[in-house]
Amino acid sequence: MEIKPFEKKIYLSSPTMHGDELKYMQEAYDTNWMSTVGANINEAERIVTEKIGCKDAVALSSGTAALHLAIKLAGERLYGIPKVGHGSLEGKKVFCSDMTFDATVNPIAYEGGEAVFIDTEADTWNMNPKALEKAFEIYPEVKLVVVAHLYGTPGKIDEIRSICDKHGALIVEDAAESFGATYKGKQTGIFGDYGIISFNGNKIITGSSGGMFLAKSEEDAHKVRKWSTQAREDAPWYQHEELGFNYRMSNVIAGVVRGQLPYLEEHIAQKRAIYERYKEGLKDLPVTMNPFDDKNSVPNFWLSCLLINKEAMCKQVRGEKDVLYVTEPGKSCPTEILEAIAKINAEGRPIWKPMHMQPIYRMNPFITVSGNGRARSNAYINEGAIADVGMDIFERGLCLPSDNKMTPDQQDVIIEVIKSCF
Ligand SMILES: *Cc1c(COP(=O)(O)O)cnc(C)c1O
Repeated sequence: MEIKPFEKKIYLSSPTMHGDELKYMQEAYDTNWMSTVGANINEAERIVTEKIGCKDAVALSSGTAALHLAIKLAGERLYGIPKVGHGSLEGKKVFCSDMTFDATVNPIAYEGGEAVFIDTEADTWNMNPKALEKAFEIYPEVKLVVVAHLYGTPGKIDEIRSICDKHGALIVEDAAESFGATYKGKQTGIFGDYGIISFNGNKIITGSSGGMFLAKSEEDAHKVRKWSTQAREDAPWYQHEELGFNYRMSNVIAGVVRGQLPYLEEHIAQKRAIYERYKEGLKDLPVTMNPFDDKNSVPNFWLSCLLINKEAMCKQVRGEKDVLYVTEPGKSCPTEILEAIAKINAEGRPIWKPMHMQPIYRMNPFITVSGNGRARSNAYINEGAIADVGMDIFERGLCLPSDNKMTPDQQDVIIEVIKSCF
């Protein structure tokens, strides 16, 4: 059966505008607050603070900038203020989610720290609390954990918190992908000692770019606001006692964010419907959807993902930059499905390639539930469970087109194409 490609490309997740964005951008222009100061910034910060339930939120140029300043704040609290030219985590190990976007991890390196990657759990595709416990056995000196909620699905944040409390460690919570998702009725981003969200173009709502630091105290918010605007002291001239950054959000971008914020719940409802339609449409295939803890968490369903059962995987060999597979009736692999949906002008994406598999971080430690994952990659532990869960999900999983402007009819075509791969 030949399926005609969509005339207009269906993206993985693209911006969805509603009109108010333009109104607030125009307001910035008309009032000449074309700067990193203005009503849009104040309003966007106020609304996010209220939504998350934090003390304050600081609008920044990106989620990555927010992570950098959150991690710097944690580093200085733990280890003191570094000399200029040195990071706050110089020579320190930091535990970090392994299967995530590299923006979660890079700020640890910006501050001179060494990321120790913690393996993923099959239940939520997030940091495995048991592997985290193992990591504290091996590196009891570690005092900071950076944890992400992947694809909008909350991780087991209570368990992670109690392990961290036991070891006196702080948490930086990367809720870039999970804005609006809840865990035990509370918003993600509120659980860490420091939290962040992102307004990158493909997130659940967007500013075209931008992010926010979510503060637990006025002091933290004040410090991040100050650092993000070149760390000026209160003086008649440019007086500097600390290292500064140019990380503040523009009032024009904040206009987009302000216009988008009222539509967060609507976007989540649309994304949930997409997830459920895939789940129903693909239920007879040897696949599962990205899982979540339906007792304790409500994801924002940012991306719908698929995991192919082990026995239904055709041969697929991935090098550093290319891939080969052998198609087989009844079986498939992520590459075959991604190619098939690309052919009808729809966009999917491989799962985030785990950080411990990335050339840039090849020397960093990687901890699985059974200990040193570098020594055990690809091996099976006693219970028959896979030791390196992140690598396994990367090999068998993929992100499906999850754009909230996709119609049910279009999604049904995508579902048919996926079925034809098996
Ligand atoms: C998008 C993203 C970030 C970074 O946000 P930017 O606004 O793009 O800098 C950080 N962590 C995760 C998990 C993300 O998906």
